[in-house]
Amino acid sequence: MSTTLNERRLDPAPVAILGAGPVGLALANELAWRGVRCVLIDRRTEPLRFPTSESIHARTMEHFRRWGIADAVRYAGFPPELPRNVSFVTRLTGYDLGRVERPSNRQQQIVSRSISPEGAIWCPKFLFEEVMRRRLRDAGTVEILAGCELDAFEQDAEGVELFVRDLATGHAFSRRALYLAACDGASSSTRKSLGIKLEGKFAEGRNLGIFLRSAELGEMMRARDSVMADIINPDFSANLSAVDGDELWRLIIFARDGDPDTLDPETCIQRAAGRKTDAVIVESRVWAGHTVVAESFQRGRVFLAGDAAHLLWPRGGFGMNTGVGDAVDLGWKLDAVLKGWGGSELLASYEAERRPVAVRNVAEAAENYRAESSLPISTHLDENSTRGEAERARMSRAILETRTREWSTIGLQLGYVYEGSPICWADGTVAPRAPDGVYLANTRPGARAPHAWLDPETSYLDRFGRGFCLVHRRGIEVAAFDRAAAALEIPLSTLDHETITQEALYERALVLVRPDGHVAWRGNEMPEDVEAVLGKAVGRVRRECEHLAREAPVRSSLGRS
Ligand SMILES: Cc1cc2nc3c(=O)[nH]c(=O)nc-3n(C[C@H](O)[C@H](O)[C@H](O)COP(=O)(O)OP(=O)(O)OC[C@H]3O[C@@H](n4cnc5c(N)ncnc54)[C@H](O)[C@@H]3O)c2cc1C
Repeated sequence: MSTTLNERRLDPAPVAILGAGPVGLALANELAWRGVRCVLIDRRTEPLRFPTSESIHARTMEHFRRWGIADAVRYAGFPPELPRNVSFVTRLTGYDLGRVERPSNRQQQIVSRSISPEGAIWCPKFLFEEVMRRRLRDAGTVEILAGCELDAFEQDAEGVELFVRDLATGHAFSRRALYLAACDGASSSTRKSLGIKLEGKFAEGRNLGIFLRSAELGEMMRARDSVMADIINPDFSANLSAVDGDELWRLIIFARDGDPDTLDPETCIQRAAGRKTDAVIVESRVWAGHTVVAESFQRGRVFLAGDAAHLLWPRGGFGMNTGVGDAVDLGWKLDAVLKGWGGSELLASYEAERRPVAVRNVAEAAENYRAESSLPISTHLDENSTRGEAERARMSRAILETRTREWSTIGLQLGYVYEGSPICWADGTVAPRAPDGVYLANTRPGARAPHAWLDPETSYLDRFGRGFCLVHRRGIEVAAFDRAAAALEIPLSTLDHETITQEALYERALVLVRPDGHVAWRGNEMPEDVEAVLGKAVGRVRRECEHLAREAPVRSSLGRS
């Protein structure tokens, strides 16, 4: 067992996080950024080397930017200038069937500049997890219990008792925390012990993943100028993706109705390449695709996040990215409640906001898998004949129609809205109808507040800070918001627009942005009851606002950034 703190703390940790996968690490980073102490428990002492989660969405990069690690992740080891193109081929040495062009990690940030200060990137999990871990070590607010397993837990009205075992020594001990975030992955023992069921189709298909090293496959992919290839032929369907952008690759074979345990990895690589290669297998593992979401994300003081709460097909990169979104939503709410300005309804809004996003993303990934698995594969597809040529032309059209959607998801990455959230003030407006793959900036309550540049380096998103931020038209009187926030002890900063374009982008004279960068309320005039607006945004019931407003001294401003 190792700890990052010099001495063991005997008082309850504000938050315990079970699982130091990408989602547990994201929650620990969000809490560290907010100065909230936590204990992070994982049975592993070494990072998982098997590569997954390489497709990092723009919204996740925006969160990394808030924690100060976006550049470190972008330059963590994957070649920043390598275009992230996707090829569709019959085999790596076979025929071309189609192509999706995507900029490199560095170029994507430039291409995305008008809608985000960051862009989606490609970076395998073991590289970006190390950056997240380093950040936590620097923060010094996280106690890491590595090599420790959580055997059981009990919750009462005040907290959660955790029964932990050091796997190296067998030493069993207990820790207490006020809240437990279960980021314990697909087979979450926390979810099971809480009796929370998964809704949907569990284990729809079992597949084989092969982590391999091969200079020759690297050459073949460089010749195609691609980091990913969907291999489509009558024998089998597979997907090859870059790990380090050089010799390390991951090959996935979709076993469909077959049994992946009976597949020979060497033969699979040969079939994908179209000939024998120098490939050396690092590791093979069987994994399952799912379309499931937990029926509930919370029981009392225990919350589910990441794969513990939703499991999907790895098509479109929605797994880890959805989990990081969970972590951010839960993180600011825990912070608010622990600091005393979050209301009694705030934590319950976690499930209300995140579950619908999970349902949508799980369905989107399933749709991508369905599109991939229902391509009409002719037995002549790989043939050097007129018939083969005609079949490939037909396949190219089918790919163009059904498969490109998977790689143009910016509308989903940035455009999700917490519709119907109990802590957002719905204003009766209807979501703008964006064509597939397009993000339309808007400030509807629940939406991500849009990005604009204040100067070439500073985005609006950089100025939102750790509390609420009232973004407003220049010259408008906002003192009533300052007074109400002070009375309710809610941290609030303000940001006024500099240009007419920015005013237009924000659509209303006043837009209240939450600590996670989503819009809580908007209007053209000062609301009659500002305390009610703020109170609902932090999950307070009316009585809680009145009580605090009577007792708190009125301060003129709080937490301006
Ligand atoms: C082939 C493949 C490709 C993928 N590609 C992408 C992609 O490009 N983009 C994307 O967003 N997603 C992708 N995913 C999905 C992504 O890998 C997962 O969604 C993500 O890893 C889930 O993270 P997590 O932190 O929730 O869980 P995990 O990564 O599973 O972490 C859970 C942790 O909890 C620990 N743990 C569990 N129980 C206990 C216990 N009782 N005591 C102590 N420790 C415990 C485990 O040791 C583990 O470290 C892919 C998945 C696959 C299979």
